[in-house]
Amino acid sequence: MHIPEKMKAAVLFDLGDLRVTEVPVPQIGAGEVLVKVEAVAICGSDPGIINKGWKGYPILGEFIPGHEFTGTVVKVAPDVFELKEGDRVAVEPHKGCGRCENCLKGLYTTCLNYGNYELGHRHYGFSTNGGYADFAACHVTTLHKLHDSIGFDEGTMLTGAGTVLYGYERIGWVGAGETVVVTGPGAIGLMSAHIAKILGAGRVILTGTRENRLAVGRELGADITINVREENVVDRVMELTDGVGADLVVECTGQSAPAAEVLDFIRKNGRISFNGIYHDPVTLQLDKIVQWNLLITGPKAEGKLNLKRAIPLMADGRMDFKPLITHHFKLDEINEAFDTFNGRIGGSIKVIINP
Ligand SMILES: [Zn+2]
Ligand SMILES: [Zn+2]
Repeated sequence: MHIPEKMKAAVLFDLGDLRVTEVPVPQIGAGEVLVKVEAVAICGSDPGIINKGWKGYPILGEFIPGHEFTGTVVKVAPDVFELKEGDRVAVEPHKGCGRCENCLKGLYTTCLNYGNYELGHRHYGFSTNGGYADFAACHVTTLHKLHDSIGFDEGTMLTGAGTVLYGYERIGWVGAGETVVVTGPGAIGLMSAHIAKILGAGRVILTGTRENRLAVGRELGADITINVREENVVDRVMELTDGVGADLVVECTGQSAPAAEVLDFIRKNGRISFNGIYHDPVTLQLDKIVQWNLLITGPKAEGKLNLKRAIPLMADGRMDFKPLITHHFKLDEINEAFDTFNGRIGGSIKVIINP
Protein backbone atom coordinates (compact mmCIF):
# COMPACT_ATOMS: atom_id res chain seq x y z
CA MET A 1 0.00 0.00 0.00
CA HIS A 2 1.17 3.52 -0.75
CA ILE A 3 1.69 5.27 2.57
CA PRO A 4 1.17 9.03 2.45
CA GLU A 5 3.46 11.42 4.29
CA LYS A 6 0.65 13.20 6.08
CA MET A 7 -2.45 11.94 7.84
CA LYS A 8 -5.44 13.22 9.74
CA ALA A 9 -5.34 12.91 13.49
CA ALA A 10 -7.24 14.24 16.50
CA VAL A 11 -4.58 16.12 18.44
CA LEU A 12 -4.92 17.43 21.98
CA PHE A 13 -3.76 21.05 21.65
CA ASP A 14 -4.65 21.94 25.22
CA LEU A 15 -6.53 20.19 28.01
CA GLY A 16 -10.10 19.95 26.74
CA ASP A 17 -9.10 21.11 23.25
CA LEU A 18 -9.11 18.15 20.86
CA ARG A 19 -9.00 19.03 17.15
CA VAL A 20 -8.53 17.14 13.91
CA THR A 21 -5.49 18.35 12.03
CA GLU A 22 -2.83 17.15 9.57
CA VAL A 23 0.29 15.58 11.05
CA PRO A 24 3.11 13.44 9.68
CA VAL A 25 2.40 9.71 9.44
CA PRO A 26 4.39 8.14 12.32
CA GLN A 27 7.71 6.48 11.50
CA ILE A 28 8.15 2.92 12.69
CA GLY A 29 11.20 1.79 14.64
CA ALA A 30 12.58 -1.66 15.45
CA GLY A 31 9.85 -4.11 16.37
CA GLU A 32 7.13 -1.78 15.23
CA VAL A 33 4.29 -2.01 12.78
CA LEU A 34 2.36 0.74 11.01
CA VAL A 35 -1.35 0.14 11.45
CA LYS A 36 -4.01 1.81 9.31
CA VAL A 37 -6.69 2.50 11.91
CA GLU A 38 -10.07 1.11 10.83
CA ALA A 39 -12.10 1.65 14.01
CA VAL A 40 -11.53 3.20 17.41
CA ALA A 41 -14.00 3.27 20.27
CA ILE A 42 -14.41 6.04 22.81
CA CYS A 43 -13.59 4.67 26.25
CA GLY A 44 -15.01 5.94 29.55
CA SER A 45 -11.47 6.95 30.48
CA ASP A 46 -11.03 9.18 27.39
CA PRO A 47 -12.94 12.27 28.64
CA GLY A 48 -10.68 12.33 31.72
CA ILE A 49 -7.54 11.99 29.58
CA ILE A 50 -8.69 14.80 27.28
CA ASN A 51 -9.78 17.17 30.04
CA LYS A 52 -7.18 16.42 32.74
CA GLY A 53 -4.32 14.70 30.93
CA TRP A 54 -2.63 11.49 32.04
CA LYS A 55 0.62 10.65 33.81
CA GLY A 56 3.43 11.25 31.32
CA TYR A 57 1.19 12.12 28.36
CA PRO A 58 2.92 13.38 25.20
CA ILE A 59 3.31 17.13 24.85
CA LEU A 60 0.20 19.15 24.06
CA GLY A 61 -0.01 19.97 20.37
CA GLU A 62 1.30 16.47 19.51
CA PHE A 63 -0.68 14.11 21.73
CA ILE A 64 -3.09 11.81 19.84
CA PRO A 65 -5.36 9.97 22.32
CA GLY A 66 -7.49 6.87 21.58
CA HIS A 67 -6.67 3.39 22.81
CA GLU A 68 -9.44 0.95 21.85
CA PHE A 69 -8.66 0.36 18.21
CA THR A 70 -8.37 -2.13 15.39
CA GLY A 71 -6.76 -1.80 12.01
CA THR A 72 -4.87 -3.25 9.08
CA VAL A 73 -1.13 -3.76 8.96
CA VAL A 74 0.33 -1.61 6.17
CA LYS A 75 4.05 -1.78 6.95
CA VAL A 76 6.32 -3.78 9.25
CA ALA A 77 9.84 -3.05 10.47
CA PRO A 78 12.52 -5.32 8.96
CA ASP A 79 12.82 -7.30 12.22
CA VAL A 80 9.09 -8.06 12.46
CA PHE A 81 8.30 -11.58 11.23
CA GLU A 82 5.07 -12.17 13.14
CA LEU A 83 2.82 -10.00 10.98
CA LYS A 84 2.61 -8.99 7.34
CA GLU A 85 0.95 -6.32 5.28
CA GLY A 86 -2.80 -6.85 5.09
CA ASP A 87 -3.18 -8.59 8.46
CA ARG A 88 -6.18 -7.40 10.49
CA VAL A 89 -5.26 -6.67 14.08
CA ALA A 90 -6.55 -5.51 17.45
CA VAL A 91 -4.20 -3.27 19.41
CA GLU A 92 -3.43 -3.81 23.07
CA PRO A 93 -2.86 -0.37 24.65
CA HIS A 94 -0.15 -1.51 27.09
CA LYS A 95 3.38 -2.43 26.12
CA GLY A 96 5.59 -2.98 29.13
CA CYS A 97 9.30 -2.14 29.08
CA GLY A 98 10.01 -5.87 29.03
CA ARG A 99 12.93 -5.56 31.44
CA CYS A 100 11.52 -4.61 34.86
CA GLU A 101 10.61 -7.25 37.44
CA ASN A 102 6.86 -6.87 36.85
CA CYS A 103 7.22 -7.19 33.08
CA LEU A 104 9.40 -10.25 33.49
CA LYS A 105 6.60 -11.78 35.55
CA GLY A 106 4.10 -10.98 32.78
CA LEU A 107 2.53 -8.12 34.73
CA TYR A 108 3.21 -5.52 32.07
CA THR A 109 0.15 -3.37 32.84
CA THR A 110 1.93 -2.49 36.08
CA CYS A 111 5.32 -1.94 34.43
CA LEU A 112 7.75 -0.30 36.85
CA ASN A 113 9.01 1.92 34.02
CA TYR A 114 5.58 3.32 33.14
CA GLY A 115 5.86 6.24 30.74
CA ASN A 116 9.59 5.74 30.19
CA TYR A 117 9.80 5.90 26.40
CA GLU A 118 13.58 5.32 26.24
CA LEU A 119 13.25 2.09 28.20
CA GLY A 120 10.61 0.88 25.75
CA HIS A 121 7.41 1.41 27.68
CA ARG A 122 4.34 2.37 25.63
CA HIS A 123 0.74 3.02 26.59
CA TYR A 124 -1.02 3.94 23.38
CA GLY A 125 -3.53 6.75 23.78
CA PHE A 126 -2.26 7.50 27.31
CA SER A 127 1.49 8.07 27.53
CA THR A 128 2.14 7.41 23.82
CA ASN A 129 0.20 8.51 20.76
CA GLY A 130 -2.83 6.35 20.04
CA GLY A 131 -5.58 5.64 17.57
CA TYR A 132 -7.65 8.76 16.86
CA ALA A 133 -5.78 9.00 13.57
CA ASP A 134 -5.48 7.46 10.13
CA PHE A 135 -2.36 5.53 11.17
CA ALA A 136 -0.63 4.45 14.38
CA ALA A 137 2.81 2.97 15.05
CA CYS A 138 2.45 0.00 17.38
CA HIS A 139 4.90 -2.53 18.75
CA VAL A 140 4.39 -6.03 17.38
CA THR A 141 3.91 -7.40 20.90
CA THR A 142 0.76 -5.28 21.27
CA LEU A 143 -0.92 -6.57 18.12
CA HIS A 144 -3.24 -9.55 17.99
CA LYS A 145 -4.60 -10.99 14.75
CA LEU A 146 -8.35 -10.73 14.36
CA HIS A 147 -10.30 -13.73 13.14
CA ASP A 148 -12.14 -13.07 9.88
CA SER A 149 -15.46 -13.32 11.71
CA ILE A 150 -14.65 -10.32 13.94
CA GLY A 151 -15.48 -6.96 12.40
CA PHE A 152 -13.22 -3.98 13.01
CA ASP A 153 -15.95 -2.17 14.95
CA GLU A 154 -16.70 -5.05 17.28
CA GLY A 155 -12.99 -5.73 17.61
CA THR A 156 -12.51 -2.39 19.35
CA MET A 157 -14.31 -3.92 22.32
CA LEU A 158 -11.61 -6.55 22.82
CA THR A 159 -9.72 -4.05 25.00
CA GLY A 160 -12.66 -3.78 27.40
CA ALA A 161 -13.26 -7.52 27.19
CA GLY A 162 -9.60 -8.11 28.05
CA THR A 163 -9.90 -5.86 31.09
CA VAL A 164 -13.01 -7.70 32.25
CA LEU A 165 -11.33 -11.09 31.75
CA TYR A 166 -8.25 -9.92 33.62
CA GLY A 167 -10.52 -8.82 36.48
CA TYR A 168 -11.99 -12.30 36.61
CA GLU A 169 -8.54 -13.89 36.43
CA ARG A 170 -7.34 -11.75 39.33
CA ILE A 171 -10.31 -12.69 41.52
CA GLY A 172 -10.06 -16.41 40.75
CA TRP A 173 -12.46 -16.54 37.77
CA VAL A 174 -16.14 -17.46 38.15
CA GLY A 175 -17.00 -20.75 39.78
CA ALA A 176 -19.54 -22.87 37.91
CA GLY A 177 -23.03 -22.03 39.11
CA GLU A 178 -22.00 -19.07 41.25
CA THR A 179 -24.16 -16.01 41.84
CA VAL A 180 -22.38 -12.96 40.48
CA VAL A 181 -23.57 -9.42 41.14
CA VAL A 182 -22.34 -6.74 38.74
CA THR A 183 -22.94 -3.18 39.91
CA GLY A 184 -23.14 -0.41 37.31
CA PRO A 185 -24.25 -0.96 33.69
CA GLY A 186 -21.55 1.07 31.96
CA ALA A 187 -19.71 -0.66 29.12
CA ILE A 188 -17.40 -2.53 31.52
CA GLY A 189 -20.33 -3.55 33.74
CA LEU A 190 -22.36 -4.81 30.78
CA MET A 191 -19.36 -6.74 29.48
CA SER A 192 -18.78 -8.14 32.99
CA ALA A 193 -22.35 -9.45 33.15
CA HIS A 194 -22.06 -11.05 29.70
CA ILE A 195 -18.66 -12.62 30.39
CA ALA A 196 -19.74 -13.95 33.80
CA LYS A 197 -22.32 -16.08 31.99
CA ILE A 198 -19.72 -17.28 29.47
CA LEU A 199 -17.47 -18.27 32.38
CA GLY A 200 -20.21 -20.39 33.92
CA ALA A 201 -22.05 -18.18 36.41
CA GLY A 202 -25.29 -19.72 37.59
CA ARG A 203 -26.98 -16.40 37.96
CA VAL A 204 -25.94 -12.88 37.07
CA ILE A 205 -27.59 -9.97 38.84
CA LEU A 206 -26.98 -6.54 37.32
CA THR A 207 -27.71 -3.32 39.20
CA GLY A 208 -28.10 0.20 37.87
CA THR A 209 -30.22 3.31 37.66
CA ARG A 210 -31.03 3.51 33.95
CA GLU A 211 -33.69 1.16 32.64
CA ASN A 212 -32.41 1.29 29.04
CA ARG A 213 -28.96 0.12 30.19
CA LEU A 214 -30.45 -2.62 32.35
CA ALA A 215 -32.43 -3.78 29.31
CA VAL A 216 -29.18 -4.08 27.34
CA GLY A 217 -27.79 -6.05 30.29
CA ARG A 218 -30.66 -8.50 30.05
CA GLU A 219 -30.08 -8.78 26.30
CA LEU A 220 -26.43 -9.62 27.05
CA GLY A 221 -27.34 -12.35 29.52
CA ALA A 222 -28.04 -10.81 32.94
CA ASP A 223 -30.65 -13.03 34.59
CA ILE A 224 -31.96 -10.45 37.02
CA THR A 225 -31.66 -6.67 36.97
CA ILE A 226 -32.21 -4.39 39.94
CA ASN A 227 -33.05 -0.75 39.40
CA VAL A 228 -31.54 0.85 42.49
CA ARG A 229 -33.93 3.79 42.18
CA GLU A 230 -36.84 1.44 42.78
CA GLU A 231 -35.42 -1.34 44.91
CA ASN A 232 -32.95 -1.73 47.76
CA VAL A 233 -29.97 -3.66 46.36
CA VAL A 234 -28.92 -5.17 49.68
CA ASP A 235 -32.40 -6.41 50.53
CA ARG A 236 -33.00 -7.78 47.05
CA VAL A 237 -29.66 -9.62 46.73
CA MET A 238 -30.01 -11.11 50.20
CA GLU A 239 -33.55 -12.23 49.35
CA LEU A 240 -32.37 -13.78 46.07
CA THR A 241 -29.57 -15.65 47.86
CA ASP A 242 -31.62 -16.91 50.81
CA GLY A 243 -29.93 -14.49 53.17
CA VAL A 244 -26.38 -15.68 52.30
CA GLY A 245 -25.16 -13.05 49.83
CA ALA A 246 -23.42 -13.12 46.46
CA ASP A 247 -20.43 -15.36 45.76
CA LEU A 248 -18.74 -12.71 43.67
CA VAL A 249 -19.35 -9.00 43.21
CA VAL A 250 -17.87 -7.05 40.31
CA GLU A 251 -18.07 -3.36 41.21
CA CYS A 252 -18.28 -1.20 38.10
CA THR A 253 -20.04 1.98 39.23
CA GLY A 254 -16.85 3.80 40.24
CA GLN A 255 -18.93 5.61 42.87
CA SER A 256 -18.02 5.66 46.56
CA ALA A 257 -21.38 4.78 48.11
CA PRO A 258 -22.24 1.75 45.96
CA ALA A 259 -18.61 0.60 46.17
CA ALA A 260 -18.81 0.56 49.97
CA GLU A 261 -22.22 -1.09 49.90
CA VAL A 262 -20.98 -4.28 48.22
CA LEU A 263 -19.80 -5.45 51.65
CA ASP A 264 -23.46 -5.58 52.69
CA PHE A 265 -24.45 -8.23 50.15
CA ILE A 266 -21.30 -10.32 49.72
CA ARG A 267 -21.34 -13.77 51.32
CA LYS A 268 -18.86 -14.99 53.91
CA ASN A 269 -15.76 -16.14 51.96
CA GLY A 270 -16.98 -14.09 49.03
CA ARG A 271 -14.86 -12.30 46.43
CA ILE A 272 -15.05 -8.69 45.29
CA SER A 273 -13.44 -7.22 42.19
CA PHE A 274 -13.30 -3.43 42.07
CA ASN A 275 -13.30 -2.55 38.37
CA GLY A 276 -14.51 1.07 38.40
CA ILE A 277 -12.57 4.27 37.97
CA TYR A 278 -12.72 5.75 41.49
CA HIS A 279 -12.06 9.46 41.64
CA ASP A 280 -13.06 9.76 45.31
CA PRO A 281 -11.91 7.78 48.35
CA VAL A 282 -14.12 4.85 49.36
CA THR A 283 -14.67 3.94 53.00
CA LEU A 284 -14.71 0.16 53.43
CA GLN A 285 -15.49 -1.78 56.59
CA LEU A 286 -12.08 -3.48 56.75
CA ASP A 287 -12.97 -5.53 59.82
CA LYS A 288 -15.62 -7.33 57.78
CA ILE A 289 -13.03 -8.18 55.14
CA VAL A 290 -10.95 -9.87 57.84
CA GLN A 291 -13.73 -11.53 59.80
CA TRP A 292 -15.58 -12.74 56.72
CA ASN A 293 -12.47 -14.03 54.97
CA LEU A 294 -13.12 -11.89 51.91
CA LEU A 295 -10.89 -11.66 48.86
CA ILE A 296 -10.60 -8.31 47.11
CA THR A 297 -8.71 -7.45 43.94
CA GLY A 298 -8.58 -4.82 41.23
CA PRO A 299 -7.45 -5.42 37.66
CA LYS A 300 -5.09 -2.95 36.01
CA ALA A 301 -6.41 -2.95 32.45
CA GLU A 302 -6.19 -5.84 29.96
CA GLY A 303 -3.28 -7.54 31.73
CA LYS A 304 -1.62 -10.90 31.13
CA LEU A 305 -2.70 -11.18 27.50
CA ASN A 306 -6.38 -11.29 28.36
CA LEU A 307 -7.20 -9.30 25.23
CA LYS A 308 -5.84 -12.26 23.27
CA ARG A 309 -7.99 -14.66 25.32
CA ALA A 310 -11.09 -12.69 24.31
CA ILE A 311 -10.52 -13.12 20.55
CA PRO A 312 -11.64 -16.77 20.13
CA LEU A 313 -14.62 -16.13 22.42
CA MET A 314 -15.70 -13.27 20.18
CA ALA A 315 -14.80 -15.11 16.98
CA ASP A 316 -17.24 -17.97 17.53
CA GLY A 317 -20.03 -15.66 18.68
CA ARG A 318 -20.09 -16.61 22.36
CA MET A 319 -18.97 -13.13 23.24
CA ASP A 320 -21.23 -10.74 21.36
CA PHE A 321 -20.87 -7.06 22.10
CA LYS A 322 -22.60 -5.76 18.99
CA PRO A 323 -25.58 -4.57 21.13
CA LEU A 324 -23.18 -2.15 22.84
CA ILE A 325 -22.33 -0.31 19.61
CA THR A 326 -24.81 2.54 19.35
CA HIS A 327 -23.12 5.23 17.24
CA HIS A 328 -20.61 5.72 14.43
CA PHE A 329 -18.74 8.87 13.45
CA LYS A 330 -15.95 9.86 11.09
CA LEU A 331 -12.70 11.21 12.52
CA ASP A 332 -13.63 14.75 11.44
CA GLU A 333 -16.70 14.48 13.66
CA ILE A 334 -14.74 13.51 16.78
CA ASN A 335 -16.06 16.31 18.95
CA GLU A 336 -19.64 15.46 18.03
CA ALA A 337 -18.78 11.86 18.86
CA PHE A 338 -17.53 12.89 22.31
CA ASP A 339 -20.61 15.06 22.90
CA THR A 340 -22.78 12.05 22.05
CA PHE A 341 -20.75 9.83 24.37
CA ASN A 342 -20.53 12.27 27.27
CA GLY A 343 -24.17 13.37 27.06
CA ARG A 344 -25.39 9.79 26.60
CA ILE A 345 -27.28 11.21 23.66
CA GLY A 346 -29.54 8.71 21.93
CA GLY A 347 -28.80 6.12 24.63
CA SER A 348 -25.16 6.02 23.57
CA ILE A 349 -22.99 3.24 25.01
CA LYS A 350 -20.08 2.52 22.69
CA VAL A 351 -19.36 5.24 20.17
CA ILE A 352 -17.12 4.16 17.28
CA ILE A 353 -14.99 6.39 15.12
CA ASN A 354 -13.98 5.14 11.67
CA PRO A 355 -11.11 7.24 10.31
ZN1 LIG B 1 -10.41 1.96 27.53
ZN1 LIG C 1 8.36 -3.04 32.75
